[in-house]
Amino acid sequence: MESSTKFPDFDLQAVRADFPVLAREKYGRPLVYFDNAASTQKPQCVIDRIARFYSYGYSNIHRGLHFLSEEATADYEAARSTVADFLGAASPDEIVFTRNATESINLVASTFLADHVPTGSSIVLTVMEHHANIVPWQLAAEKLGLKVRPVKITPSGEVDREDFRKALDENAGMVVFCHVSNSLGTINPAKEMASEAKAKGLPVLIDGAQAAPHIPVNVQDLDCDFYAFSGHKVFGPTGIGVLYGKAERLASLPPYQGGGDMIERVSFEGTTFAPPPARFEAGTPHIAGAIGLAEAIRYCKKLGYAAMEAQEQALLAKATAGLREISGVRIVGEAPNKVGVASFVVDGVHPHDLATFLDRDGVAVRAGHHCTMPLLEFLGLTATTRASFAFYNDLQEVDVFLESLQKTIDLLR
Ligand code: PLP
Repeated sequence: MESSTKFPDFDLQAVRADFPVLAREKYGRPLVYFDNAASTQKPQCVIDRIARFYSYGYSNIHRGLHFLSEEATADYEAARSTVADFLGAASPDEIVFTRNATESINLVASTFLADHVPTGSSIVLTVMEHHANIVPWQLAAEKLGLKVRPVKITPSGEVDREDFRKALDENAGMVVFCHVSNSLGTINPAKEMASEAKAKGLPVLIDGAQAAPHIPVNVQDLDCDFYAFSGHKVFGPTGIGVLYGKAERLASLPPYQGGGDMIERVSFEGTTFAPPPARFEAGTPHIAGAIGLAEAIRYCKKLGYAAMEAQEQALLAKATAGLREISGVRIVGEAPNKVGVASFVVDGVHPHDLATFLDRDGVAVRAGHHCTMPLLEFLGLTATTRASFAFYNDLQEVDVFLESLQKTIDLLR
């Protein structure tokens, strides 16, 4: 067994101690949490920040004249600035708080297409998309007389760039794709893909749900129109998500939902709407969620993405090498540029059985279609087992996972 990894300014044992849940045991075994692509664990500072807000700083925002409301408003708007800075946005006004990446994508699909994408044209996406970046477009396409054009992937799990370029030339109206695939781990060449789409005058939305926890993101560098991610995958709370939109794009959109806070003036003769981002934040938002998300971002920035990535790559390399050594195991997704996601199938053993036996050894992985049914259908599969890593995972945990996997395969085959 290898000893704990140590990077300059990154003491893994100290980092692990920041996440209380990692000290848990189940069935007499220490928890090995390898389900990070589904959701990540929360550091104590995020838990404390939320508790502090609810204990001493809580109030509704924007409407109050008392000090608590002013403080809560300041904290919520400061969180917006933290997110803007995290994404490299030009202004906090380009950041809309939503419930999650799914709602961010639905917001754009519901408000953008009607006035910006010609009837009969296609929404270009890839077969590796999460359902969250397929179904909203299908629903909108049906209403507006648009098509959805899936782009193929290569055997290694990368976007087939030739098919992508072909799709751009087939009456495309908009281009949407994931920055990182949740099932394969592939990091897509998002900047190049966006640039090819922009060269054809096509608007671009990037689903960053799996990128934000792993790699630095700069929306101005990517030059995308929209970028979506979820708080719970970047070590923040559930129920808070982010939609970045270029200022001129957001300004051109009608409201998504109606209610309080998104208006300028309401009258029965006609209501006028607030400018972005308030226009898209109807009702009382998840104030504590935004504040907790900002704390999670500060935590990640303090650790540094370079150190986080280095640890994840070490975990991925070790897991990949170990999986390759087990007979009957086939890794699904072998792009050279990947985050810490190892999806695999095992001859003669169902992924659900594997996941259940691994759980008995304290190893939490996910088995199933991972909300990417079209991808699995394209690959001729119905399910995979997925181990997904975060910077707080230890190389020794990979040993536990591989040993448990080998034992389970020997038992079930
Ligand atoms: N996009 C990708 C690539 C994802 O992996 C996920 C969640 O797994 C989503 C979108 C949806 O995220 P959420 O359920 O937080 O809205």
